[in-house]
Amino acid sequence: QHSHLEEYRGVPTKTRSGRKIRLYANSGSLSDIDLVKASDAEGIGLFRSEYIYLQSNDYPTEDEQFEIYKEVLRGMGDKKVIIRTLDIGADKTAEYFMLKPEDNPAMGLRAIRLCLSNKALFKTQLRALYRASVFGNLSIMIPMITSVEEVTETKKIIDVVKKELTDQGFEYRDEVEFGIMIETPAAALISDELAPYVDFFSIGTNDLTQFTLAADRQNADLIKYLNPYHHSVVRLIEMTIQNGHAAGIWVGICGELASDENFLGKLIQLGIDEMSVVPSSVLTMRAKIATLG
Ligand code: PEP
Ligand code: MG
Repeated sequence: QHSHLEEYRGVPTKTRSGRKIRLYANSGSLSDIDLVKASDAEGIGLFRSEYIYLQSNDYPTEDEQFEIYKEVLRGMGDKKVIIRTLDIGADKTAEYFMLKPEDNPAMGLRAIRLCLSNKALFKTQLRALYRASVFGNLSIMIPMITSVEEVTETKKIIDVVKKELTDQGFEYRDEVEFGIMIETPAAALISDELAPYVDFFSIGTNDLTQFTLAADRQNADLIKYLNPYHHSVVRLIEMTIQNGHAAGIWVGICGELASDENFLGKLIQLGIDEMSVVPSSVLTMRAKIATLG
């Protein structure tokens, strides 16, 4: 079994008919980078930046974040690194944020909502990301989008950040790709309206499943309701891929469903362009993709 998989190390990921799929890995922290490299992933499809904030006793400074992003980007060479901006909220927080307790934190002031309500916090991260962009192949991805306005407001902040960096003599790459996570039913349903504003979509099936099926992903008693194969979820995935492609952008997936061998055939049939899986699944998925489509 092991030696069979090793045949797929260092080879491009292609379906049986020769269609290329970009096979990336998820990373939860800087210490995962060696794991990602050893996995033979072609890039990082989801770097969960919130761990930087969760490990810290106070807001991580721009320079502290810059050093971390620089190290990830350098470590990955010319491979794509998709860094997701802060996804923190009342369920996943550090004390210094002093967030109000919420009854439904998953649907609360989290992720992009928190960032747009605290522009200084958001700008610090964006500045660190853009400053680090010269050290590798960075893409920036925004979590928990539900509206076009959130996207346009974020892009305005990015423009301000870039102008300020230029004025202050900092360098950054202009070709940083900008994408959003499609992880709310709202975003999937208006993916045709969102697509013109972004370079890519990445489908977050963990939250998409929880919100579509109204089943808390943290509640072990609800496991049977949290079914990512439910046709409602699959239809939203299909709609997202179709709307993305109609607008000429690429569409990836970074939720747990991406690492599910049983769903792989469906994803390929739907035309997925990129998949970000757990590092330990990379070679298994590459081998399986070669037998499908
Ligand atoms: C998702 O919701 O599918 C996702 C990838 O983000 P997270 O699991 O970090 O919420
Ligand atoms: Mg999510």
